[in-house]
Amino acid sequence: EAKKYKNSVRLFVPLMQEGYLNRVNVEQMLRKALAKHEIYMVYQPQIDNNGAIYGVEALVRWQNEELGLVPPDKFIPIAEASGLMPELGHFIIHTTLQEMKTLQITLGVTFQTSLNISIKQFMEAHFFEKLIYEIDRAKLAHVSLCLEITESLFIEDIDYILPLLNKIHDMGLHISMDDFGTGYSSLSILRKLPIDELKIDKSFVDTILNDITAEKMVQNIITIGKNLDLYILAEGVETKEQEVILKNLGCDRFQGYFYAKPLAYDTLKAFFETHTIA
Ligand code: C2E
Ligand code: CA
Ligand code: CA
Ligand code: CA
Repeated sequence: EAKKYKNSVRLFVPLMQEGYLNRVNVEQMLRKALAKHEIYMVYQPQIDNNGAIYGVEALVRWQNEELGLVPPDKFIPIAEASGLMPELGHFIIHTTLQEMKTLQITLGVTFQTSLNISIKQFMEAHFFEKLIYEIDRAKLAHVSLCLEITESLFIEDIDYILPLLNKIHDMGLHISMDDFGTGYSSLSILRKLPIDELKIDKSFVDTILNDITAEKMVQNIITIGKNLDLYILAEGVETKEQEVILKNLGCDRFQGYFYAKPLAYDTLKAFFETHTIA
């Protein structure tokens, strides 16, 4: 997947820069993408301290004939700006829950599934009701789901966000703070949030071996997280050396190319069949 991905990033970005593509073109292509089955999900395994898989993170992909594989951080903002996100978000949630339910039945195992929820999605009318409807429809246990949210959520109305997050958490879903340390973070807000996990951003993991500041940042994040009794997940782990230092610093969950790339359904199934499941 990664190889194809690199090529398409090269294709997509110059096309946009050269003005061959403008936002309107891309928006029109995106509008048709769902109906044309160009959008699909991939899943990246998440690994615990003992090297066992305990979950997956769902990541969306858009494969277009002309554009190649468009990165999600390019097309999600377009979907959001053009009002397509409710439909795309529904597709993501529905597809992920159905596929991961099917996989769990097929393999006779249970594991956690994490969904990325953008701030715009979280603020959509009836987001919560629609989410619960899809979970019940897939007959998945609430505790087997995790929502990955980002700090940017708290730029929005905290009096709306906090009760809703509490409601979601009270129903048994897990909540993870994604990209932690990269944005606006208020420690006093963090204490009030019903979160279960801090996800250390890849940018820290990338530099941890040769940048003492990154290592200190990670150490501080872990100290904060442990004080709040949270799981600490490191994302973007690519080497054994990174894993060793992150483990020594106290990380208890890991995700990255060192273990597995984001995998399409069949490859994910094969991965589960050949690895230890927590
Ligand atoms: P994120 O949530 O921080 O996701 C982590 C990104 O790092 C993913 O990129 C993943 O493929 C990549 N990654 C994981 N391990 C490694 C590694 O070891 N090395 C390298 N080089 N990369 C690694 P991706 O899939 O392109 O997603 C980018 C961003 O797009 C995500 O960042 C997330 O913010 C957003 N996104 C992706 N899928 C969804 C979705 O279904 N819904 C929403 N709302 N956002 C999504
Ligand atoms: Ca994420
Ligand atoms: Ca990240
Ligand atoms: Ca992100």
